Amino acid sequence: MPQVFRLRCSLPTATGDTIQLAHGGGGRMMHSLIERLFLPAFSNSYLEARHDSAVVRIGNDRIAFTTDTYVVSPLFFPGGDIGKLAVYGTVNDLAMAGARPLYLSAGFILEEGLPLETLEAIVRSMREAAGIAGVELVAGDTKVVDRGKGDGVFINTAGIGLVAPEVDISPARVAPGDAILLSGDVGRHGITIMSLREGLGFETPLQSDCASLWPLIAALLEARIEIHCLRDLTRGGLASTLNEIATDAGVGISIDEAAVPKCEAVAAACEILGLDPLYVANEGRFAAFIAPRDASRAIEILKAHETTASIIGTVGNRGPGLVDAKGPFGHSRILDLLSGEQMPRIC
Ligand code: MG
Repeated sequence: MPQVFRLRCSLPTATGDTIQLAHGGGGRMMHSLIERLFLPAFSNSYLEARHDSAVVRIGNDRIAFTTDTYVVSPLFFPGGDIGKLAVYGTVNDLAMAGARPLYLSAGFILEEGLPLETLEAIVRSMREAAGIAGVELVAGDTKVVDRGKGDGVFINTAGIGLVAPEVDISPARVAPGDAILLSGDVGRHGITIMSLREGLGFETPLQSDCASLWPLIAALLEARIEIHCLRDLTRGGLASTLNEIATDAGVGISIDEAAVPKCEAVAAACEILGLDPLYVANEGRFAAFIAPRDASRAIEILKAHETTASIIGTVGNRGPGLVDAKGPFGHSRILDLLSGEQMPRIC
């Protein structure tokens, strides 16, 4: 089993209780921080929407705005590196609001002693990823911290994108009856990082799925698929994403585990490492909640883009906040939010 590091400290909240800050504290800790600290402190309708990006109106335009910070270890891995992740991760959060990604900023926190060639390789990778994603990096910042006070490099990116007038995608639109689509197989990013750390090798080399999701979303929007909500499956994997949506939209979710695609290497590594693939991180996959009449057409569109997309479940009206998965032998299990993180420093 992977080691879960816990660096503890307690954080008092407005309600007078405390949240344990733990490195590797997982989905529950993040959820507590958001619900009990950040939301009460900064309360506004944009945060309350609990979306991957805030969608703000400026004049007649709707602008999606988001930010994310990247601390992945190691910095380079098969299929990507921290720079590529920092571009695509933020581009994907914009795409999940149905926004065409346009501009990024990047803030670099560099540890004294970081080899210049390492930083150059990361910057080259970011430039290439930005070109592929069709975004420009238009603002930036660099800070250097003392040796031992960082871990090579951390990167923050923020991004803005434009939401077309007819697009209305948010957790609030998820409704009973919605079909849940998964854009491809799960677990590649998390298992790639974990196998590097654990020194595992595979017969078929495994790569991170790190990629821009905008082309897939643009194709769905262009075909006028009625998309209610989108969410990229990052840290905490498919199970955590479905939990967030079930809670935020106040709905129950049922999925069929057999319909969730996994490649052989991911399935085998999960068995060896004792990991549940539904909780393993991805960097190029999303779940879409769509009107059931558009489900099969949406699958056709995604498959035309060489994905292994599938319909994995439906939204119900029983058990708001609950996610259940029907297993291969017909039994059901509840997919809960993780209380500990399977893999810290995954993105
Ligand atoms: Mg996201």
